[in-house]
Amino acid sequence: MTDTPLPPEVFALRIHPDRPLVVVDVDEVLGLFMRGFEAFVGGHGLEMRIDRFALFQNIYRPGDDTHLDIRHGKRLFDAFFECDPQQMDVAPGAAESLARLAQEATVVILTNAPAYSRPARARWLIDNGLPYPLVIGAGPKGKPVAALAARTRRATAFVDDLLPNLDSVEKEAPGVHRFQSVADERLRPYAPSAPERHPRFDTWPDLAEAIARTLRLNSR
Ligand SMILES: [Mg+2]
Repeated sequence: MTDTPLPPEVFALRIHPDRPLVVVDVDEVLGLFMRGFEAFVGGHGLEMRIDRFALFQNIYRPGDDTHLDIRHGKRLFDAFFECDPQQMDVAPGAAESLARLAQEATVVILTNAPAYSRPARARWLIDNGLPYPLVIGAGPKGKPVAALAARTRRATAFVDDLLPNLDSVEKEAPGVHRFQSVADERLRPYAPSAPERHPRFDTWPDLAEAIARTLRLNSR
């Protein structure tokens, strides 16, 4: 299997070589994705039941015991990204916390989203007080994060909700400080974690404090 090429933004973005770097995921870290997607599928007469850490397996027709066909769920997911990202609320405290970190660190958003969603995603970030450069990736995040981290002499922090992405960064860029965060309160109990390897902070004030402490920022 050949490697997925790295997103070109990884090399094109301006990253200050003498500032710490914070690389942050969008869905379920900066944005309450599950709630937004739930509202979207609700508009299609469907409902989400949050009883596992999954996406497509949580969509049901009202009254049904088995979840919707996965392919149908995937089509809804694509449609959500295409037409209506504004239904997603920003995670509480995310904008304020990142703004504080950005006083001393470079902030980069790294999201695995369909490429066609770039304009809508970029607008969502701006509209929600998150005016940071956007990298759209695909697949495990280790290699793009390693390439970003290589562009600064200072420390790098990486935040994601998904354990496979955190593990991938640990493998490809073991010097990067990893943090897990799960924005949706209902998903938190189901999210696979490894806090001994990737410290977990589910609220932004706690997360930002931990990042600032780890990166030795003054803006704590
Ligand atoms: Mg995510």
